[in-house]
Amino acid sequence: MDYIHDTLSGLRQSSPAQKEFYQAAEEVLDCLRPLLEQYPHYHDHAIIERIVEPERQIMFRVCWTDDAGKVHVNKGYRIQFNSALGPYKGGLRFHSSVNASIIKFLGFEQIFKNALTGLSIGGGKGGSNFDPKGKSDTEIMRFCQAFMSELYRHIGPNTDVPAGDIGVGGREIGYMFGQYKRLTGHYEGVLTGKGLDWGGSLGRKEATGYGTVYFAQDMLMARGEEIKGKTCLVSGAGNVAIYTIEKLLELGALPISCSDSNGTVHHPEGIDLDTLKLLKEVKRSSLREYVEHHPQATFIDIQDYPEDGHAVWRLKGELAFPCATQNEVTEADATALLESGVYCVSEGSNMASTAEAVGRLLEAQIAYGPGKAANAGGVATSQLEMAQNSSMQQWSLAKVDKKLRTVMADIHRRCATTAKEFEQPNNLVLGANIAGFRKVADAMIAQGHC
Ligand code: NDP
Repeated sequence: MDYIHDTLSGLRQSSPAQKEFYQAAEEVLDCLRPLLEQYPHYHDHAIIERIVEPERQIMFRVCWTDDAGKVHVNKGYRIQFNSALGPYKGGLRFHSSVNASIIKFLGFEQIFKNALTGLSIGGGKGGSNFDPKGKSDTEIMRFCQAFMSELYRHIGPNTDVPAGDIGVGGREIGYMFGQYKRLTGHYEGVLTGKGLDWGGSLGRKEATGYGTVYFAQDMLMARGEEIKGKTCLVSGAGNVAIYTIEKLLELGALPISCSDSNGTVHHPEGIDLDTLKLLKEVKRSSLREYVEHHPQATFIDIQDYPEDGHAVWRLKGELAFPCATQNEVTEADATALLESGVYCVSEGSNMASTAEAVGRLLEAQIAYGPGKAANAGGVATSQLEMAQNSSMQQWSLAKVDKKLRTVMADIHRRCATTAKEFEQPNNLVLGANIAGFRKVADAMIAQGHC
C-alpha cells in the first residue's frame, strides 16, 4: 500500500480545487519516502494522514466601509494547522489573490518551517482577499479593525500569535493590535511585528530578508564560496526584498534588481536602497518611479515579461533571491537562471518555485535553499519578540541579530545533516522536509492520538 499516494489522492477528493496546497503537500510527502521506509512506526500512528489535516480552519466575513460610505465584504481566514510544538504562529496575508488553498499551503509550510527553527512554535497562517492597493490610510484602519473584530476570539499569546506577510506590515499590525486591545482589554503579545515603542523587537522587520542572505552565506560557505562581490538577482520590493538587498549590500554583494506587480527594475550599478525604501516604505508607490531617480536603470514593464516566466530571472547574475510570492520561479525561469550561470538560489518567498523548477534546480546540483528553511528568520525573530514580551524586556539589535545568525546557521546545519543522512547531500529540500517533519511527528506521537 502506498500511503503517500493514497493520502494525496484523499486530499484531492476531500479538499477539491486547492492546487497550491496539493503542490506543497506533494513536495513534503514525496521527500518523506526514505524516512518512512526506514521508520515505519510513523504509519502506525497515522502521522501522514494527521499532519495534512489542519487542527482547525476558521473562515469569516469581514465587513467594512470605505471613505465614501460604501460597504464592502471580504473573506477572512485563519488556519490553525498544527500545535504539537507550541502555540500556532504564522503571518496574515492581505492580497486580492488570497483564497482557502493559498492560506492552507502557507499554513502547511509553516509547520515544518517553525519546527526547523528549533523553537517552540506550532504552524498557522491567515489573511484576507482584501486588496490594500489604492486604499486610504483610514480605509486600511477600518478594514484591520473589522478583521480583528472576528479574529480576536481565536487568538491569544499562548494559543495563536499572528504576524505580517504580504500586504501586512507595521501599520496594519498596529491597527489590529489596537482593536484587539479595545475588544479584550488586554495589552499582551498577541501579534508580532509590533512597533518598537509598544512591544516590538528590534530586528524583526529586517529578519526575514537578513535570514535569507545568511542562509545563502551558509550554503556558499559549505561549497568554499563567499557572498562578497557576487552579482545578485532579487525579486519583490516589499519587506523581504528590501532587507535582503540591505544585507547583500552590507556584505559587499551587488544586488542589481527588484520587482513589483508593475514590473522589474534592472540597475547594473546596484539597487539604491534609499530610493527603494522611499518608494515602498514611505510613498507606497510603484517601482516605475525608480528610473526617475536613476535614469541609468531600466524598468521592464510587466506587459513585456516572457510568457513562460519572469523578466527578473532572465537577467545575468550569480545568486538569486526570489522575495515576492509563490511560484514566481517557473521551470523556464529556472532553466534561464542556470544558463546564465546562477549557482545559488535562496528563497525569501514561500514556495517560490514551481515543482518543475525545483526539479531543475536540484538536478543541476546548485546550492538551493527552499523557502521553508531560507526564510525562517522572520518567524524565528517573531518568537524572540514573544520571549521579550513575556519577560517585559527589549533586547538590543546586536543581540537579536546575533541570535538570528545562530538560528539560521542551525537551520542550515539541520537541513544539511539530514540530507547527508539520507544520502542526498546536496538536496536541502529533502533535508528541510525530513528534519522539520521528524520533530513535529515525534511530538505528535508523544502527545497521543489527537
Ligand atoms: P510585501 O507585501 O511587503 O511585499 C511583497 C512584494 O512582492 C511587493 O513588492 C509586491 O508587489 C510583490 N508581489 C506580491 N504578490 C505579487 C504577485 N502576485 N505578482 C507580482 N508581484 C507580487 O510582502 P513580504 O515582503 O512580507 O512577503 C514576500 C514573500 O515573503 C511572501 O511569499 C511571504 O509569504 C514571504 N515571507 C514573508 C515573511 C515576512 O516576515 N514578511 C516571512 C517569511 C516569508 P506590489 O507592491 O506591487 O504588490
